[in-house]
Amino acid sequence: MYTRIYYFRFPKDTSDQPVIYHVIKKHDVEVNILRADILPQREGVMILELRGTKVNVKHALSYLEGLGVSIERLATRVRRDDERCFQCGACTGVCPVASLSIRREDMRVLFDPDKCTGCGQCVLICPVRAMEMSLGREWFDPEGSRTPSISR
Ligand code: SF4
Ligand code: SF4
Repeated sequence: MYTRIYYFRFPKDTSDQPVIYHVIKKHDVEVNILRADILPQREGVMILELRGTKVNVKHALSYLEGLGVSIERLATRVRRDDERCFQCGACTGVCPVASLSIRREDMRVLFDPDKCTGCGQCVLICPVRAMEMSLGREWFDPEGSRTPSISR
């Protein structure tokens, strides 16, 4: 499964269109809304996690670009707090890309950030919150005010 987080800026004339419905129904892409500021007849912004096959996500992005939506990929940063991690291994069972794995020789849980897609599954399951996730970006809302970067 291909998972990426994007920042979208929607032009005014899309505010009353079922754009997200089409992304889900026509392109078979799951959408997780992390933030949305959309008002009728106003430019809007959304931060969405898109999940699906790589081809379907690409087609969904092309569809949005065709509507004049500006798209920016957010580089998700995931890190592990090694002080907190007690090597229980729970996160290795949910990581879809084996970024977290168990080294059989000594049963240590290894984390390879280069493989990580930023899906966030390990953040949800870790019992001691050792996995931390940040979108590592600041953005500006339609009113122009600055809002802090997301972390969870
Ligand atoms: S679930 Fe948390 S505590 Fe357990 S191995 Fe993974 S990061 Fe460490
Ligand atoms: S966020 Fe966690 S579960 Fe998802 S790919 Fe990265 S390490 Fe694996």
